[in-house]
Amino acid sequence: MIILAIESSCDETATALYDGDLASGSGRILGECIASQIETHARFGGVVPEVASREHLAALPPMVDEIMQEAGLGWADIDAIAVTAGPGLMGALLVGVSYARAAGAVHNIPVIPVHHMEGHLLAPGLSGELPAFPFITLLVSGGHTLLVRVDGIGAYSLIGQTLDDAAGECFDKSARLLGLPYPGGPEVARLALKGDAKRFKLPRPMLNKDNLDFSFSGLKTAVMYAVRKAGGSDALDDTARCDMAAAIEASICEVLVKKAVRACRQQNAPRLVIAGGVAANSSLRKLLATYADEVTVFLPEPKHCTDNAAMIAYAAFARLRTGSEASTDWDARPRWPLNEQTRAVSAP
Ligand code: ATP
Ligand code: MG
Ligand code: FE
Repeated sequence: MIILAIESSCDETATALYDGDLASGSGRILGECIASQIETHARFGGVVPEVASREHLAALPPMVDEIMQEAGLGWADIDAIAVTAGPGLMGALLVGVSYARAAGAVHNIPVIPVHHMEGHLLAPGLSGELPAFPFITLLVSGGHTLLVRVDGIGAYSLIGQTLDDAAGECFDKSARLLGLPYPGGPEVARLALKGDAKRFKLPRPMLNKDNLDFSFSGLKTAVMYAVRKAGGSDALDDTARCDMAAAIEASICEVLVKKAVRACRQQNAPRLVIAGGVAANSSLRKLLATYADEVTVFLPEPKHCTDNAAMIAYAAFARLRTGSEASTDWDARPRWPLNEQTRAVSAP
């Protein structure tokens, strides 16, 4: 079956076409397209919701046309439309959802609402097999830091989460303190390559607490004091900026990896998925590899770690394989806990 997927929950407009075989579960991406609004929002230092909606509205229709044309497909070839229904910015979500619903009604195609974080969570399935159940997932993105036990498609239990900032948010806010542009994660990672992580001492928040929760706002504050002590971000020379970036990255990665491995031990599930934008971080991947004899790690390709529509198509495909039933009783949902899963599929 061929699925057209649409993602517009935040500041990336994305479309994808996925061809999956329901019987075997195998499939492949027929095409994908991402339009980032990063440059538009960068001058504000973060995402401006109103601007994001307008950009989605302009970008989405031509992106759907383009992807279908490139794949040589027409509406009659599409078996289902998958769309991110939440969580995210309401106005941004509504652009994707309204488009999907209208196209579904006009062309008589069912619409499948997808939870954005379920998309991130299942993304390793795009390039290989998903691990055997149960497995543990560490979801680390711009808005979330969650540890989830996965007992099946749609069977998600939250076993840990951040009490304040998300890991990606900590990368972004710390980067800003260093005078680096938004989004800060990739910038910090780039400078960290040349830095000495041991020069500045930063805390490892919550690492010694015997639970699976995180807290990153204190780390951000520690970065603020360290920068201030060094005379402010303008006074930092290149070496100091790189050393600080390396210290930030080392602190975030150590906490994330050690807690994720702890979760695998506690839950007796030695299979770990790491997904979401921060999973693209190469130091995180390197540190994880040191636990290879204890935990088998499943990572999406870096381009499928950050927001994309292929992961939304795959999540819908995985849902359809479990026999989701048609319903029109769903709506865009800006706040939507991952463990509150609906299995709705909009009938055409
Ligand atoms: P959410 O999925 O929670 O709604 P989001 O969709 O904005 O948030 P993603 O697109 O999954 O988040 O990830 C973006 C985040 O990942 C940003 O905070 C960014 O700084 C971070 N990020 C991206 N690449 C890297 C990297 N190489 N190292 C560290 N952080 C990174
Ligand atoms: Mg984003
Ligand atoms: Fe995301």
